[in-house]
Amino acid sequence: MDLLPFESALKLVLNSVNRTTALERLPLELAIGRILAEDVKATFNYPIFDNSAMDGFALKSGDTKNATPENPVVLEIAGEISAGEFCENPLEEGKAYKIFTGAPLPPGADAVIEIEKVEVECNKVYIKEPVKSGSNVRKAGSYAKLGEVIAQKGEELTPGKIGVLASFGIGYVLTYSRPKVAIVSTGSELREPCHPLLKPGQIYNSNSYALTTAVNQNGGLATNLGSVEDDYQRLREFLKDTLYESDIYITTGGVSMGEKDFIKLLVKELGIDVKFHKVRIKPGKPTLFGTYDNGRRLFFGLPGNPVSALVNFYLFVYPAIRKLQGAKELFKPKVRAILTQDFKRKNAQRREYIRVKVTFGEDGTVYAQPYKNTSSGDMLSMGFANGVAVIYEGVKEVKKGQTVEVILF
Ligand code: AMP
Ligand code: MG
Repeated sequence: MDLLPFESALKLVLNSVNRTTALERLPLELAIGRILAEDVKATFNYPIFDNSAMDGFALKSGDTKNATPENPVVLEIAGEISAGEFCENPLEEGKAYKIFTGAPLPPGADAVIEIEKVEVECNKVYIKEPVKSGSNVRKAGSYAKLGEVIAQKGEELTPGKIGVLASFGIGYVLTYSRPKVAIVSTGSELREPCHPLLKPGQIYNSNSYALTTAVNQNGGLATNLGSVEDDYQRLREFLKDTLYESDIYITTGGVSMGEKDFIKLLVKELGIDVKFHKVRIKPGKPTLFGTYDNGRRLFFGLPGNPVSALVNFYLFVYPAIRKLQGAKELFKPKVRAILTQDFKRKNAQRREYIRVKVTFGEDGTVYAQPYKNTSSGDMLSMGFANGVAVIYEGVKEVKKGQTVEVILF
């Protein structure tokens, strides 16, 4: 069977996501990381009133035209305006108001001079230079106009964006709910952390934990279903019982060529419409993907190898979670980085993702440091890496100092 190129596999995944999750209106504090489900518009001109950008004196710029250090303009201090106060008395010619950052300008004032630039004596302020109209004034409506879109549907809510909404008095926001993702590891050798290994040949289940946390960190809502042994009947009953409780179902293990690799047989029996099995990538060649429930739900059969499982999560499952959530940006960011070690391979047929740690030099140069070994069985490499460098098909060698494309987790 011919291996599917990465792009074709990814396209099959994305084309299979034909809906978004249910809408959920959330208070701002709970909306971090969610995707906006509507355009949000400015509820007023912003800033809502002319206000001072500095602590200083609000004045009429015209009064200061002739000011010089030798011949300062002397203005009478008419009063003081703090943030939260509102002065209704118009500023008269030849006068100034002491004003604090964020306080509304008094009517008639068109500029503010910083406190550092003036001298004050009794109730007089000495201005030693002309002040331009509009200086240190945040004009009402200069940042955004009433009705203008201030946050767009499909954008991810960051603390900054949440601050924007709060600035406009918006306390609740319409988002897409987090896609539910079930995770089950398969393998008779697996034991859960905290439990003793009972006999030789057993190992700890790491996939369930790496994937559960990866899902939760990346917009999904994970359910860790633990592990099931390599027993066809048991696996079938388990899948039948749990398949319809999530938007995405992930299994690990059981998709390669071993005799006990049941997943690929089981999925057919369970009515999963397999879109691909085996991709021309490394790690992750045996990855399987399909849909079920009339295309509403997605099934990912990731390889059991812990490195493959997590890398393939970022390559295939992550974009699916993002699309289900209505996100505009479906992919992890890529950077170009300088490889710090030679990379060589004999067989260049597959696209290879090598585990790297991206670091930033003092001058801002981005480096990609490969892990010390290339064994895909070494989970420590995933603790080390914060991304994978992409080695394209046909490329046999990348020299230290050459630039590579890195997908950042
Ligand atoms: P498989 O794809 O089932 O043949 O598994 C490939 C390799 O990954 C084997 O060495 C398994 O023991 C190991 N493995 C499978 N599942 C897990 C898991 N959940 N946690 C840690 N290692 C696993
Ligand atoms: Mg196995």
